[in-house]
Amino acid sequence: MNRAVFLDRDGTLVHSVHYPSRPEQLRLYDGIAPALRELQAMGFLLIVVTNQSGIARGYFTEADLQRMHASLSANLSAQGVFLDGFYHCPHHPDGVVPELAFRCACRKPQPGMLLRAAAERDIDLQASWFIGDILDDVEAGNRAGCRTVLVDLGTEQPPASPSRCPAFVARDTLHALRIVQAVTALQDSTELDLLYRPQAWKAEHSEERHGPFKKYALTHPGSSLS
Ligand SMILES: [Mg+2]
Ligand SMILES: [Zn+2]
Repeated sequence: MNRAVFLDRDGTLVHSVHYPSRPEQLRLYDGIAPALRELQAMGFLLIVVTNQSGIARGYFTEADLQRMHASLSANLSAQGVFLDGFYHCPHHPDGVVPELAFRCACRKPQPGMLLRAAAERDIDLQASWFIGDILDDVEAGNRAGCRTVLVDLGTEQPPASPSRCPAFVARDTLHALRIVQAVTALQDSTELDLLYRPQAWKAEHSEERHGPFKKYALTHPGSSLS
């Protein structure tokens, strides 16, 4: 199975803009390409997961979005970063495009896009990460069983429920990528068995691979983030 780093697009990979609709409006954060390259070298698929209700709202079209994503891919591949996929939700209940105006299962905080990516790309969600700049990203990641990192853009109130609690909070996207690298390197180290558990706990906690990150699962058997 594969492991992935799922990345929100707006505010996480690129500077946040109000409903961008043209390629030149997607401006990558400076300095993140080397860290993305390193994660790629660690065997992570890099997959963009983005709500794009601007399509349902009639602000831009699927074709516009494809142009934007082709340009973003080209910018990154020029720096040695090869995105493995884009998943977008074009829906919104208040949309003006009738066939897209409904309450779907893919718009974050729903985990639908992650579940679809996992099925299509043979991804182990529990070995994967979701990085995003709002708690709806975190909730989608948690509900899919990923580890989550919130990038702090100063927009989010304290989480109102465990399902919206990120495992880590980063001051910016580069910091988030470094956290994923560091935790993965520790976890991959065979000498350091970070997932060790007392024998008696093993029956109760079947999801051992969550390790220390799912503190709710460890401290409150029976409750779960998902
Ligand atoms: Mg965002
Ligand atoms: Zn959707």
